[in-house]
Amino acid sequence: MKICGECGSRHLVAFAHETLLAGATRVPGLSGVRCAECGETYLDAASQARYAAALDAAVLAQRQEEQAMLVRVRRKLKLSQREAARLTGGGHNAFSRYERGEVRPLPAVVNLFRLLDKHPEMLGELVPHA
Ligand SMILES: [Zn+2]
Repeated sequence: MKICGECGSRHLVAFAHETLLAGATRVPGLSGVRCAECGETYLDAASQARYAAALDAAVLAQRQEEQAMLVRVRRKLKLSQREAARLTGGGHNAFSRYERGEVRPLPAVVNLFRLLDKHPEMLGELVPHA
């Protein structure tokens, strides 16, 4: 890397032993070069591989947290998977697929269940889909 891919500057400065965030995960001991003009960071190959693995793990952990939250909130609301699917759409098996991690729910589904977790009394305001 001789030229910054972001700004075209040739002023790249090597760094080492840095800790960067991959999602919410801290990845220590990273090295590479940083553009002195715009601040863009370019990790070396080994650091890039470690950073990407940490990011993948963070994404997986977030999905598992979402799955667990959907199960927990659905049970708290005393809904069957079918009843939950009638509230959120996606077909009568959609919710069991979300809970098994076979299909990722839309953000609207996750957000609705996070709201219902905090305000379960609002379940009565919702209209099940036929
Ligand atoms: Zn730059």
